[in-house]
Amino acid sequence: MKDTEEHITMLHGAGGQVMHSLVENYILKYFGGANVEVPLEALDDAAVVGDVVFKSDTHAVKPIFFPGGDIGRLAVSGTVNDIAVIGAEPYALACGLVLEEGLSLVDFERILASMNKTCSEASVSIVTGDTKVVEKGVLGGCVITISGIGRRTTATEKNLTVIKEFRNDFNARWILDSNLGVGDKIIVSGTLGDHGLAVLSAQEGLKFGSGIESDVKPLNVLIRRLLDEIGGVVAMKDPTRGGLADALNEFSEKSGKGILIQEDKVPIRKDVQTACEMLGLDPLEVGNEGKIVLGVVEAKAEQVLELLKGTSAGENAEIIGQVTNEFKGVAMQTVVGGKKIIARPIGDPIPRIC
Ligand code: MG
Repeated sequence: MKDTEEHITMLHGAGGQVMHSLVENYILKYFGGANVEVPLEALDDAAVVGDVVFKSDTHAVKPIFFPGGDIGRLAVSGTVNDIAVIGAEPYALACGLVLEEGLSLVDFERILASMNKTCSEASVSIVTGDTKVVEKGVLGGCVITISGIGRRTTATEKNLTVIKEFRNDFNARWILDSNLGVGDKIIVSGTLGDHGLAVLSAQEGLKFGSGIESDVKPLNVLIRRLLDEIGGVVAMKDPTRGGLADALNEFSEKSGKGILIQEDKVPIRKDVQTACEMLGLDPLEVGNEGKIVLGVVEAKAEQVLELLKGTSAGENAEIIGQVTNEFKGVAMQTVVGGKKIIARPIGDPIPRIC
């Protein structure tokens, strides 16, 4: 008998179109419906309940150690960054650990120490949690869920005050995907694709020559500086699964505006570009874990760029494009002179990168 039932595939967890349809057709059918300021249905980086920003993120990266990071650093950074990009300061985390039978205690302790260090960098604490153990199978060591809460700060307010100087119709209280306005500049904080390629190289034992490392890091301290010292940040995302292509399409769809980016401005390491060409991957669709993409009011874009460039996390930042009402969706002005549509990817081309 033919099996006509549909099943979960790896693509359902890869960001992009397939995952979005799973979320829309199944998750949103049964979850959500809360009367809160930023609900589940907004599908933004985190929810807003009263003045609390709330987020949960599960990490199942394979392997659990990879060049430049590990699952523990990834789990803490993922939740911290999702709370920070809304404009809030994360301050308390909960940690759910699912450990696989056979995980060495040395590796377990390495992961815990890495989480401790990442929490220190981000000035957050893990305050509650739970631990379960499952039989040996395919987890690859462990799965970690980090939930967290964040709050408004003076930086949140300062950023909004600056936006309102330039946009008198602006009434959002948070930095949301739907906030972009025509003329806003699009900035990325650094090179794209590093994390995905680093994990892929660890999965496949590939040698890319110079050793590409993951960019995984908490960005809340940097983000707070941007909001506090400059301001004018209208929309912000961490371009994780699905990469820049997915993040920009989220911005464009939710804001109902077009985004035009310039190919020659998009920062990509030479070795990442070369590896992507060899493997048939588009670096714009590969996930990052230590980068942000921002929509900034035009008048503040150069100052935001300058601040970013003065930091180690943002030294390769670039203004890559602008918001427009000339078309809908996302397009890229290519170096050879044409315009190419940047569609929402089907899914991140590399499995289990987070
Ligand atoms: Mg995010």
